Amino acid sequence: MLAKFLFAVFFLSAACSRMDESENEKVRKYNEKREAIYRLDHEKIFAHCDVFEKKREKYPWEDFSHGGILKITKEYFRCKGSDMNPPIKVIRGGEEIFDCGGLDKHGLPFEQNKEFVYPILIELLNYIQLKSNSLVVLTTGHRCPVHNRYADSSKLASTSKHQLGAEVDFYVEGLEEKPLEVVKWIMDYYQENPNSEYNRFFKCQKNPEGLKQPGWYNKEIFIRIHDKTEGRDFDNRHPYPYVTIEVRYDLQKNESVVFDWEKSVKNYLKY
Ligand SMILES: [Zn+2]
Repeated sequence: MLAKFLFAVFFLSAACSRMDESENEKVRKYNEKREAIYRLDHEKIFAHCDVFEKKREKYPWEDFSHGGILKITKEYFRCKGSDMNPPIKVIRGGEEIFDCGGLDKHGLPFEQNKEFVYPILIELLNYIQLKSNSLVVLTTGHRCPVHNRYADSSKLASTSKHQLGAEVDFYVEGLEEKPLEVVKWIMDYYQENPNSEYNRFFKCQKNPEGLKQPGWYNKEIFIRIHDKTEGRDFDNRHPYPYVTIEVRYDLQKNESVVFDWEKSVKNYLKY
């Protein structure tokens, strides 16, 4: 009997407790007031920062472009050897001649612990892009000796200054058939940067390398035009004439730039 009584008391008290909670919730909701939290100008704890426009930093390529055409850097001069595995080869005179593996296998020529291409070549190519508002297409920049031999095994090419980063082959998009206009821009560059020592150009007495077009030179560079059928090494298997600029004289060091076998073979990093 006592047990029944105690159970009834417990049951009633639990029911009352639930009713209290529900009542409390109703009261809380009735009195509830919602308000957004605003930050104020004079707040000291979380003071506002001054707002100002921040211009985004330029992407690297935006700093190096002329009217949407990317500026040429020494990266454009990397060896165009094939990275095929196994290495591709050509058979000439019964001999297998392998390609170098390309830019994954070696770097550019080294000068004072940095990769190096003669700056005048880069400057002239960018000048041509600026003046023509057209893309300069490099077909050959630096050639390591291995790729140089693979691309062109002739005796003449064996001493090519491509191996020193001192020579470049290229054509200009839209002006493929007008290499003489390109030559004129190269000469214009020197007229805009006058220096009595090297702004005068001379025409070669004999056409260089037996080419159809004459060559031109000043103190610093030598210019050649390869006709559609000339100079078709593996890097120049396109159907256009192309222009070659070769560095003759290093104005910084005040010395002639000549082919150096040891320099061409040893002076670049191999990976
Ligand atoms: Zn190479």
